[in-house]
Amino acid sequence: EIYRIVGLPVPEGIAEKNLLGDEDVLNVVHPQDRQPLYEARLAALEGKAPYNHEFRVSRPSGETRFVHVMGEVLRDETGKPVSMIGTIQDITERKLLDTLQRRHQRELEHAARLSIVGEMASGLAHELSQPLSATHNYIRGCIRRLQSNESDPAAILDALRLASTQSERAGDIINHLKEFARKREPVACLLDLHQVTREVLLLLEQELKKNQVVVTLIFPPGDKTNVVMDKVELEQVMVNLIKNASEAMQDQKTREITIHAEALGTDLLQINVADTGPGIPPNQIDEIFNPFFTTKQEGMGLGLSISHSIIESHGGRMWATNNPQGGTTFHFTLRRNADPGFVDEKSEVSTNREMK
Ligand code: ADP
Repeated sequence: EIYRIVGLPVPEGIAEKNLLGDEDVLNVVHPQDRQPLYEARLAALEGKAPYNHEFRVSRPSGETRFVHVMGEVLRDETGKPVSMIGTIQDITERKLLDTLQRRHQRELEHAARLSIVGEMASGLAHELSQPLSATHNYIRGCIRRLQSNESDPAAILDALRLASTQSERAGDIINHLKEFARKREPVACLLDLHQVTREVLLLLEQELKKNQVVVTLIFPPGDKTNVVMDKVELEQVMVNLIKNASEAMQDQKTREITIHAEALGTDLLQINVADTGPGIPPNQIDEIFNPFFTTKQEGMGLGLSISHSIIESHGGRMWATNNPQGGTTFHFTLRRNADPGFVDEKSEVSTNREMK
């Protein structure tokens, strides 16, 4: 079987067995995968790890195949390995399908982000016009002073510094937006969820102001909310949940979002995004995470399905519950980045952010 998979002729007779791998077979293993395969076999022979490994082979015909091996080492009564039995499987088709699905998922995520940016365009234009008109005013002031000959260099310098800060702020907004809208492969980074949430709220500030939504953050202090994940993916999840909550509350008198992060044991974080909206009808609560499920006239029905798969691809879970006092809470979990100094203590209110 192994010879068929790697594309080599089956040798005649039984060759001398080398438990670390048949030389002919090792030669067709992709050069980058040879050492890891050797190490995996060695670890199995030494009884340190089960033999369960994936590698690529470059067939003599030039074709690359993905192979999965699993095996058990048989030993004599002294514990010396005598042979290995197991299975070898060509998993190329599955790998290709995984790659296609991942690519498809990225495309969907990207399309959904573009649509969010489109929806936020007018709010963002407003957000940008503030620092730009401040810059404009400071510079006009400088020109006036220089023209009137009563120019005090210190005052002009001050005004120019302020203009520079404001134009930098406008640049930051544009860069953040560009990064969010860009088509990209995810990059795992150490992120502080608290910090990312604050940045997302800045991005959504106009939208929240327009809907007169009050946002409260309840986060444990310090770096207890560190996670390892792609920043834009985390932002995409937070943007979806906050936007949905804000949209759901449009007809309510009380419009409050509470984002509460708490540690679950030592290595999990749970984030709860609660709103005071109408809640989700019980017959829909299992459907809201399905792609294209929407109750909005202009909705795409992709936000929750994408958020759900982003969280699941990081080993977390996402679900929704209706609050006893009304409204909905979206919950998700993520693995915390291990912090040895961490003691599980009660969360405390660290920020109280109001937007009116
Ligand atoms: P879209 O926002 O385009 O409709 P989503 O996948 O983000 O797509 O949401 C799917 C549906 O879930 C929404 O149309 C709405 O019916 C429901 N939903 C999402 N969030 C909330 C919420 N906070 N409160 C009530 N219903 C919600």
